[in-house]
Parts: sequence; C-alpha cells; structure tokens
Amino acid sequence: MSVAAPELPADAPLPGLGAAQLAATHDVVVIGAGVIGLSIALRLLTAEPTRRVLVIDREGVAAGASRGNAGAYAFSDIQPLASPGILRQVPRWLLDPLGPLALRPSYLPRIAPWLWRFWRASQPARVAAAIAAQVALNRLSAEATPRLLAVIDALPMLHEDGNLHLYESEAEWRASLPGWQQRAEHGIAFEHAHGPQAIAKWQPGLSAAFVAATFVPGWATIEDPHRLVRRIAVRCLERGAGLHRASAEAIEPDAEAVSVRLADGQALKARRVVVAAGAWSHQLARTLGERIPLETERGYNTTLPPGAFDLRRQLTFPNHGFVVTPIAGGVRVGGAVELAGLQAPPDYRRSDALLAKARRFLPALRTEGGTRWMGFRPSLPDSLPAIGPARVDARVLYAFGHGHLGLTQSAATAEVVEALVDGRAPRVDLRPFSPQRFA
Ligand SMILES: Cc1cc2nc3c(=O)[nH]c(=O)nc-3n(C[C@H](O)[C@H](O)[C@H](O)COP(=O)(O)OP(=O)(O)OC[C@H]3O[C@@H](n4cnc5c(N)ncnc54)[C@H](O)[C@@H]3O)c2cc1C
Repeated sequence: MSVAAPELPADAPLPGLGAAQLAATHDVVVIGAGVIGLSIALRLLTAEPTRRVLVIDREGVAAGASRGNAGAYAFSDIQPLASPGILRQVPRWLLDPLGPLALRPSYLPRIAPWLWRFWRASQPARVAAAIAAQVALNRLSAEATPRLLAVIDALPMLHEDGNLHLYESEAEWRASLPGWQQRAEHGIAFEHAHGPQAIAKWQPGLSAAFVAATFVPGWATIEDPHRLVRRIAVRCLERGAGLHRASAEAIEPDAEAVSVRLADGQALKARRVVVAAGAWSHQLARTLGERIPLETERGYNTTLPPGAFDLRRQLTFPNHGFVVTPIAGGVRVGGAVELAGLQAPPDYRRSDALLAKARRFLPALRTEGGTRWMGFRPSLPDSLPAIGPARVDARVLYAFGHGHLGLTQSAATAEVVEALVDGRAPRVDLRPFSPQRFA
C-alpha cells in the first residue's frame, strides 16, 4: 500500500549547501546517507530540533547497501554468522562456485586476518556473548522502529507478516533445532509445521520438496527499503538538516572542532562527527590511526516486477542462504555472501543462480523482467556492529558494520547514537559493540 507523503525521487541529486552554510561549524556532521546515517540524523533532529545537522554522501541517498536489500526487520535473527553451525556448512557451500558462500581465491590473502578473527568469534563463549548483545540491540530496535516510521509517516509501509524458514528434509529441520532453542531462550516466538499441506497454510505454491517449516511471527518487512531511506531523507530536510554531496577523505580533530577533509580540498567543521559510511567506514577510521577489521560480505539479488508470484510473506531458505521477499509490489530474490572486497566487479551469475533456485522452489515464479543488484554489507568478524567513540577522540562516533542487519538495527542505532551525542547513557550496554574490541 502506498502512502501520500513527501518523496525524494530516486537518484535525485542531493540538494547541497552554499559555501557560507558549509563554512559554518555544524553541531553534527554525519558521513554516509544510508539507512544508518540518515536514521541517526533524523533522530538527532527529532530529539533536538535546533541542532545543526549536515549529512554528506559522495553519491547520494541510499547509494550503498541500504538501496536494494531484502527489506527485513529480522528482529529474531540473533545468531552471528561465525557459529559452529555455519562453519560446518562452509566446506559444502564453498564447493559450489555460485553457492551461498563464495571466496574469490585472489582475495584470500587480503581477507585472511578477518577470517582468522571470524573463526575465533565462532568459539562457544563468544557466540553466546554475541547473541546476548544482538538480542539487546534487536529488542531496542523492535521498539524504536515504529517510533522512527511514525516520524516519517511510513507505518503503513511496514508489513508485519512474519517469516517462513523452509527445510527440504526432516534431517535439515532437526539440524536447525538448536538455533530455534537459542531463540526460545531469548523469548522469541515461532511455530514449526510438517508436511506440504501444513506449510501451505503460510505459503501456497511451494515445491513439494519442502517437508518442514518454521514460522516466525515477530519478523516484518518494509515495502521498499530504497523508498524508506528517501522518505527519511526528506524528513531530515524538512527538519532543517543539510544534505550535501561530498566525499570525506579524512577526519582531523583539533582543540576547537573536528574537521572533515573533503576530496575537493574543502574542510567541514563540526562539534561531533558520526561515521556511518557503511562498508567504507574503516577507511575513515584509518585516518584517525585506527585499524578496524571491517570487510564486506557482498550480496546479490534480482527484483521481479509485480505479478511474479503470489507471495504472502518473506521466505527464508536457510540451507541455500537466500530469501524471497515481497518488495514494491514485486518479488525480490537474493542473499548469499561473496567475499571479494570493495573493488572487484559484480558477478551477476550469482543473482541468476539464486533466481534459478527460487524458480525450482516456487514453480509458478515468473522470472522475466527482473533487475539485478549487488550490495556491500559492512561486516565485522563477530557480526556485531561498531557503535561508540573513536579511540583518539570521543567527539567522533562510529556507527557501522551492521552486516546482514543494518535495516533491522537502524532505529536502535539512531537512538543509541543520539544518547551518546547528548551525553546520556544509551539503553543498551555498548561494551560488546566497542569499535576497539578487536584491537
Ligand atoms: C543482498 C542484501 C540483502 C540485505 N538484506 C537485509 C535485510 O533484509 N535486513 C537488514 O536489516 N539488512 C539487510 N542487509 C544489510 C543492510 O542492507 C546493511 O547492513 C545496511 O544497508 C548498511 O547501511 P549503512 O547505512 O551502514 O551503509 P550503506 O547503505 O552502504 O551507506 C553508506 C553510505 O556511505 C557513503 N560513503 C561511503 N564512504 C564515503 C565517504 N568517504 N564520503 C562520503 N560518503 C561515503 C556511501 O556512498 C553510502 O551511500 C542486506 C544487504 C544486502 C547486500
């Protein structure tokens, strides 16, 4: 359902600021106009309307991962990727060159230190700590998301239809039970079903290969993630934020202010700087002398036009690493993880492989007329984001590394960062999210 509210057309240039406005000292400069940066800007302005907030992005609104993701508020997705269950699947997945997980061999030397930390993060005690941290942030986000959506009149864009995890054998389903048990321990509701007939109650038209399923009611999707972020941007503008196209090259704090040096040689001055530059954020942290092991898990999808399939809710195929989601009236098919860094060109054969699988799983799926996309998930080895002050200067705040859950955790991250800017204690314990935890 669409809602009448101001829209920023897709790919509209950022409105920009004049030289005098740019030269002022801003209360907060946010680097990155993705779902994280813009949610933070909006929250800062909602809490304190007189704040002077400037958001810069080198491309535009939702130019990165926030544009084409699967649109899920996956509040019950609490397990880190680095877990014994996932590691067991890795050898099988890597055997399939277009499978759920791919590692480009030429990228192995670059990513080896990250993989080492990833492996360390899969130790049981670390996994338990990561789950507890993720539960706390997701819980706050489940509360904060309707607050954010209300501010932008987007509550009707939220579809609280739950998610259906699908299994091709009883053995596959049984292997998933420890994960469901962990969720149950954290109060997450779900319901199992067996046999095609029982599964059809939640989603008709599936291949008979699916013999078991788990329905998770506390999971929602947004009608269109790109439109959502554009809507946040418009509200930021209405509340007095500046949106300016510029590439940040370095962050340089001095006694008076924090400067953001831009690629065109200008410098912006601010009392506070928030780094929300997604998968590129570590490059900015580096200019402050900090090494943060941020990598990208590249993900692929195809968005099919309206009429592609009568999809009732988001479907997850856990053993194939992808989801099928109702988006913008159509169907988005995708997911997977490719470890190949920020420079390699997209390999859209991955989108095609996922689409071919989806066609097998949903035999009536019409696969023509799709648009393929690749996005850079910003990922830290333990699947938790980095939220908190920079080591060298607490006036610089980091808010990046949300991996598979950036949309899910955007509203919570915004409230947490606003508390930090305001000098209040945030509502979640930030120690597990410390940007310095890998140092
Ligand atoms: C296939 C796929 C499916 C996904 N599905 C989901 C899902 O269903 N639910 C969910 O919660 N999450 C999902 N995610 C993850 C989610 O999309 C990301 O975690 C989230 O979008 C990250 O938001 P961000 O604002 O941190 O980064 P981005 O959206 O990447 O934004 C960063 C911005 O910073 C700008 N930038 C970078 N460097 C600079 C610089 N130096 N100067 C100025 N600007 C700069 C970029 O241009 C970009 O616009 C998915 C991701 C992918 C790839």
